[in-house]
Amino acid sequence: MNPAVVLLKMSTAHTLQNIEMEDWASHSKNLFSSKLALHDQIICAAQNGAHKFNIFFQAASGNLPQLYPKQLKDNLTVKLRNVKLIDHIQFTRQNRLLISTEHLETAIEVSNIKAIMGIPTVCSVISEQITSRFLLRNVPLETSLQELTDELEAENTIKIHEARRFLSDKSRNIATENVLVTTYGTNLPQHIKLWLTRQEISLFIDKPRQCRKCFSFSHPTSKCKNESICEICGEQHNIQSCTSPTMNCILCKGPHKATDLKCPKREEERKFLKFKCLNRLSFIDARRKCQIDCCSWLSTISPIFDNGFTTPSLAAHAP
Ligand SMILES: [Zn+2]
Ligand SMILES: [Zn+2]
Ligand SMILES: [Zn+2]
Repeated sequence: MNPAVVLLKMSTAHTLQNIEMEDWASHSKNLFSSKLALHDQIICAAQNGAHKFNIFFQAASGNLPQLYPKQLKDNLTVKLRNVKLIDHIQFTRQNRLLISTEHLETAIEVSNIKAIMGIPTVCSVISEQITSRFLLRNVPLETSLQELTDELEAENTIKIHEARRFLSDKSRNIATENVLVTTYGTNLPQHIKLWLTRQEISLFIDKPRQCRKCFSFSHPTSKCKNESICEICGEQHNIQSCTSPTMNCILCKGPHKATDLKCPKREEERKFLKFKCLNRLSFIDARRKCQIDCCSWLSTISPIFDNGFTTPSLAAHAP
């Protein structure tokens, strides 16, 4: 058997356990980003299953003034062919204007708006809502991400939004052969063709990311504003000076370390990340939905979680 095939077979047996979200590369050599204009991104996403478009507007400088909905509707009416195809408009807490539509033509028109009520604006979309992510292993380090992207787009009907190399766990500056690929659209094929091989792919779901200072899952270590907590007993001292005879997890109060892989809080976070991914929510929206109705939310997603990586939306579109 060709050594490359052996390598591929081995790679599918691996798990995603040792890959952390904060290990993504941000250096340009290890990051490819599409230069597509927003309306082209929306078109590519729609060609591949996306059908909900939430477009955010903010003033190009300063804040948007508070506007009456009537003023806004009148303003949009002259800009769009059919303003009724907008589902709703809303001001967000961050003083941004959200325009939602399920109509592609309207989404394109909206994304081309350059000013609202005469105020110059910039617009954006929540990328989670119009993209899907999958992991590729064994991408040689000497292969540029531009070359990888060209090959993927030439051999498959996908359009790539971003490709990032993961960085090594031990030394965060060293790129690895693992590449996270983000494509436009919500349909992910089960296989892709790459360098004449057929590779199985699946929706990439983040692994829980834990602060190494206070053990919270809600922020990375670099953004932690809390006191350092002892991993063993949950008190405020460093682990070397711990004299506690018993273990006490700061997160769930159970008799284990705060970093225990079986901690129920970690399991909850895993479910949360799966929920976020399958529902295509941003972190902020997913956390908010969780706070509103956490219990019913967790019970709703349990059955999906048991299915491993096969998601209902993927299964429905399988060839
Ligand atoms: Zn922290
Ligand atoms: Zn301690
Ligand atoms: Zn625990």
